[in-house]
Order: sequence, then C-alpha cells, then structure tokens
Amino acid sequence: MSNLQIEQFSARSDNFGVLIHDPEASVTASIDAPDENAILEALKRRGWKLTHIFTTHHHGDHVEANFALKKRFGAEIIGPRDEETKIPGIDRALSHGERFAFGTFEVEAISTPGHTAGEISFHIPAAKVVFTGDTLFSLGCGRLFEGTPATMFKSLQRLTALPGDTEVYCGHEYTESNARFALTVDPENSALKERAKEVTALREAGHPTLPTTILREMATNPFLRWHDPSIRRNLKMEDASDEAVFAEIRKRKDNF
Ligand SMILES: [Zn+2]
Repeated sequence: MSNLQIEQFSARSDNFGVLIHDPEASVTASIDAPDENAILEALKRRGWKLTHIFTTHHHGDHVEANFALKKRFGAEIIGPRDEETKIPGIDRALSHGERFAFGTFEVEAISTPGHTAGEISFHIPAAKVVFTGDTLFSLGCGRLFEGTPATMFKSLQRLTALPGDTEVYCGHEYTESNARFALTVDPENSALKERAKEVTALREAGHPTLPTTILREMATNPFLRWHDPSIRRNLKMEDASDEAVFAEIRKRKDNF
C-alpha cells in the first residue's frame, strides 16, 4: 500500500479543487470538477494524468468541467446513484456503502443527502480521509436545498461515526464566516474560540483552512454538537431531541 498524495487548491471564487493520486498505480482523481483550468494547472504542477472524477453532487460548481475533462483524459466519472441523471458524463453510479478500487485503495460511498437529495461522500479508510462535498464544512454544514433537517442530521451522524483522526476535505472555503456564526451559538467553547483565531490568521496569510478532522469538527462545529449542554442551554432546548437542536441551529444559520 502506497501513500495517497493529495493536492488541494482554490477554484472559482470559494470552491476547493482536490486531486488525489496513488503513485503505485499511477491513478489520479479529481474530487468534483469545479473549474477546468484550475484542475489542469494542478495536474501540470504535480505531473499527474487524470483518470477519474469523483462527483459528490449535481450542482453546477461541482460538475462544470466533467465533460471537458472526460473528453481530454477519458476520465471515468463516478457519482451518486440518486442523482445519476443530473451528473454530466457519469459512468458509474454508487449507492450507500458501495465500494470500488482506486489504484491500490478502496473507496467507500457514504450516502450524505440533505444539501441535495442524493449527495455522497467518498471515504478512503486506508488513507484516513473523507471528501464531504457540500455536506460537512469546517465549522458548518451545507444548506438544505433538497432535504429536511432530519435528512441532513442522519447524514452528519454517518460522518461523525468515522474514526476521529479521519481528515476531512470539503467543497468550499466558508470557514471564516462559519466561525462567526458558530460563536453565536457556542460562545463558551474554548476549542472553538481557538479555532476561530487560527482561521482568521490562516485566511489573513492567504492559506486554506482545510483539511480538518472529524475529531476537531466534533469539538468545534455547532452542527455536530447537538448533544452539548452549553449549546442546549443557550438555545433554551435542554430537553429537546438531538435532531430538534440540529434543526434549530440550521435555521439560525439560514437567518444569520
Ligand atoms: Zn452544492
């Protein structure tokens, strides 16, 4: 088993592009395809040839370059079964729990709907990494365009069940504004306050705030802290269900 190499770069205004590469098998995947030129530049920088595109969901800023990259490289496009008809050029559709080989690595699809009706996350257990698209962000979660709070709550629970040291890459650099909101519902959380400071410093230096880890998000991301007594007290929801606490936090963020 070789090491999985990862290249993260910015694309469009606030999207992330991510390439993953298995040097042993000489395969390279783009996680989503937000921007053809940014992806071509990253491939050139690393000297990699694109073989796969892993599509998390159908939104235009995640699939825009699918056709162009498929035409140029013949890349295989793998995406969610429940959005099969909306993913340009899709070759292979996955349901929850389905696994496939990427070089010497096994990749597992985790169904994480809520932002869209069929979004999936790509988990590579041997590399301890998950690509969560627009489901889980650092200090935030995706807007509920096609799902209910209950749908997203279940999706986030699937991600928090992953090992804590799993690295998380996501679709957008939203961490700084997410931190401002997070502090309104979880102001006493010292880990969050520390993370918010770190995020400001990273952004001022022009650095990305991702990747993060599952453990770090569980300590700081209010959308994963439905059980936390201090948040519940702030929301006056001490006796509410976990799902109701999550729904309230999501609603407040929509109006923030
Ligand atoms: Zn999206």
